[in-house]
Parts: sequence; structure tokens; C-alpha cells
Amino acid sequence: MDFFDFHHHKKNIRYGIYNLDIEKTPPDFYFSAGIHPQNIQPENIDSQFNWLQSVINENCFAIGECGLDSIVSVDMKIQKDVFLRQIQLANELKKPLIIHCVRKFYEVISFRKKSEQAMIIHGFNKKQSIADDLLKNNFYLSFGKAVLYHLSLQDTLKTVPLDKLFLETDNDDFNIEELYQKVSEIKEISIERLQQQIVENLETIKNG
Ligand SMILES: [Zn+2]
Repeated sequence: MDFFDFHHHKKNIRYGIYNLDIEKTPPDFYFSAGIHPQNIQPENIDSQFNWLQSVINENCFAIGECGLDSIVSVDMKIQKDVFLRQIQLANELKKPLIIHCVRKFYEVISFRKKSEQAMIIHGFNKKQSIADDLLKNNFYLSFGKAVLYHLSLQDTLKTVPLDKLFLETDNDDFNIEELYQKVSEIKEISIERLQQQIVENLETIKNG
């Protein structure tokens, strides 16, 4: 069995979800497409949504990355509008949402009830209390490279239910097999069991 990479930016990885850059043409394998907070152009937002609508096909597994980011310069009110529009689109299309969040977790949680679809926080590397609040609100958490060296994150991972978990390489250059190995040790399960669980989780979020 292969190692599913839930969120990545590398065209050579075929078993995973490739994050399509804005205004690009979709590949012929699983991808996600969305308007990342840092790419929002308020004056062009309708044409950005036209692009998004135009690339959605059966290979489009999820809408995203989308979300809220306190560091980018785009006004937070506009970020929230664009996020909500993408949640509504995901509801219409019955696709899960891959969420990018920087220091706006409580605002993102406040949007949870707007979504009828699964919401997955990608690249989760924050503290236990944030993980607890996200899990309580039925978010999924996708973990990346930080798990390999971040000890308190490893402790947090211990508490994350297996059926709420995904693994990803994102922009980082490392072999995802290493991450599966580490997580199987932390969770005290076999790699095969972990692979199987991730496949089941994908089925679950795909079916809303
Ligand atoms: Zn990414």
C-alpha cells in the first residue's frame, strides 16, 4: 500500500492531493483548488471565483487551501467574505474544505457551522488546547514535517483520534514514508493500519 499525501505542491506525487496554484490548469490526478488568503485580489475577486468554478471537475477532491491568515495584508473582513463564499461553494459541490489558518483558529471555528462538508486544518502544529477545540468542533487535523521533531506536537498527536487524522508534506522536502513511520510509533499502531485508516478517513470526508 502507498502513502497518501493529503496536501502537497509537487507534480511528481500522484498518490495524494496536489494543491493547484491560482489561475493554473488542473492536472489529471487528485487536486484541491481554492483562493488562499494571500492570493485574494479584492478588485478581481469575481474573476478569481470564475477561475475556481472553471477548474472543478471529478479530480478536484477538495476546495482549498482557503481560510484566514492574520499575517497577510488582505483586510480580515474581505478574507472572511472570500472564505464564506468558498464554504458555500463546497456545500453546493459536496466537497471537503482544506483550511489554511494562521492565528485565527477561533474565527475559523466560528465558520464551522456554515459548512455541511468536512473541514480539515492542514499543517497543524499548534498547542494542545487549540487541537482540543478544533476536534470538539469536528475538524480533521492534517500533520506534516513538524511531527518529526516537535516534541509537544508529538504529545498532541497522541490525543488525536485516528479517525480525525491526515498526513502531508505540504511545501517541505522530505519523504512522507518517514512521517508515516513516526506517526505509527507515536500512535502505537502498524504502518499498514495507519495507511488503512487514512484511506478510510478519505472515504468519510468524500461522502460528506
Ligand atoms: Zn500548502
